[in-house]
Amino acid sequence: MINMYSDIIEIAKRRGIFWPSFSIYGGFSGFYDYGPLGTLLKDNIIKIWKESYLNDDAVFVDTPNLTPEPVFKASGHIARFSDMAAECKNCKSKFKFETILVYNNVNKMPKNIDEAVELAKEFKLKCPVCDSLIDNVYNFNLMFKTENNDLYLRPETAQGIFVNFKLLYNYNRNKLPLIGGQIGKGFRNEIAPRQSLIRLKEFNQCEIEAFFDPDNLYFKDLYEYKKINLKPNDGNEYYITVKEAAERDIISNKAFAYFVLKTQYILENIGMNNERLRFRQHSPDERAHYAADSWDAEALIDNDWFEIVGIANRTDFDLKTHDENSNESMKIKIDNREIIPYVIEPSYGIDRIILALLSQSYYERNNKFKVLKLNYNIAPYHIAVFPLMRKDELKAQALKLYNAMKKVDKYIYYDETGSIGKRYARQDEIGTPYCITVDYRTMEDNTVTVRYRDTMEQRRMEIDEILSENGFKNL
Ligand code: AMP
Repeated sequence: MINMYSDIIEIAKRRGIFWPSFSIYGGFSGFYDYGPLGTLLKDNIIKIWKESYLNDDAVFVDTPNLTPEPVFKASGHIARFSDMAAECKNCKSKFKFETILVYNNVNKMPKNIDEAVELAKEFKLKCPVCDSLIDNVYNFNLMFKTENNDLYLRPETAQGIFVNFKLLYNYNRNKLPLIGGQIGKGFRNEIAPRQSLIRLKEFNQCEIEAFFDPDNLYFKDLYEYKKINLKPNDGNEYYITVKEAAERDIISNKAFAYFVLKTQYILENIGMNNERLRFRQHSPDERAHYAADSWDAEALIDNDWFEIVGIANRTDFDLKTHDENSNESMKIKIDNREIIPYVIEPSYGIDRIILALLSQSYYERNNKFKVLKLNYNIAPYHIAVFPLMRKDELKAQALKLYNAMKKVDKYIYYDETGSIGKRYARQDEIGTPYCITVDYRTMEDNTVTVRYRDTMEQRRMEIDEILSENGFKNL
């Protein structure tokens, strides 16, 4: 029987996609490194994301990870960016309160700490590890604070965009909508880091803050695209297009709907399976302190749904509070009206997207060989080039082809070790879509064997055709 999750973790480590950080010192939960292939994969995803938002004329910033206290006081993160947690007095294990509820089969979510304490008493909640009674429930702020000064590691890249709103607005020739973006690290002191890339203490975010005139919440026309599963918080479920959802007011704000649709498009473009993707609206209790409405893009990983992108309507919450607490006015004038812009935020977690893509593209062939069916546009390597055997003349010819191809595309891999079957299998396992083999016939007629990952078909092709003008599109 295949166990997708542990198989992915095993391939990821063995092949250099990702692995636990600092493992020579015993490993520390919540930290993962990307290896040589994972780094390429991550960069490819981020590039597609960035180019997609450049299509919307986004402007990007790159701001510090360490952020002074006044910023997070104003933004509400110091007071409210916390999880409800519980510690078992007996075995000292710490949990998110949610985990305790699931373990005890209690289907209620407390709104605050007082309610959580009441629930613990009422249901005699037990520790999932040692079954002792839980009585220590508390709020746990998720931010890391530096020891000797008042700096915090940012829990989201967003504030770096908000504090720069005025500079960006000027840069944008005083025009709204303004699409601001940032790619960077977010840090959260997660109580229970788990499931490899799902819950990390340091993770990769790609965030957009789209600023609108509150009286003109329109960005671009919604276009027809594939149907998607939508789960609004009224208990209904729909399988309709985002455009239809906006027309029927299931997603009420047209600008918001645009970013839902765009998220569906980007995720599919990098290879996410539309059938294993859905958008779920948060219930009011579930929303972050800054959000008036939130929908998560969730991906099916193994048999569970996980949030991979959070789309929030942050209204004027952030700019208003920076307007009130900083030295800068965040008000702008539009046609004699003084306004504070409204913000819609699609926030992508790249690590979870990577795990979702790996899990959705993984399968085993009948012969038990493992394959990652990654899209060409994100695969760490596009093409691998091999000599059939390690004979000098074959190697020389293969290296010549490899070097010529590398002039067109850097994501080409050369391999001459092991049998040809093993080399194909190795490339299948890391998601390389094409392999090209140079053999004795190549010397005679300048043709090579092209082998396709997904069908395992092989065909003969002329090198000149492969190297022709249009990249490698003839493959
Ligand atoms: P949020 O601001 O909580 O909506 O997070 C935005 C996105 O960041 C989520 O959709 C996740 O993909 C990602 N994310 C949030 N927290 C973590 C974490 N602890 N580890 C990995 N990814 C995370």
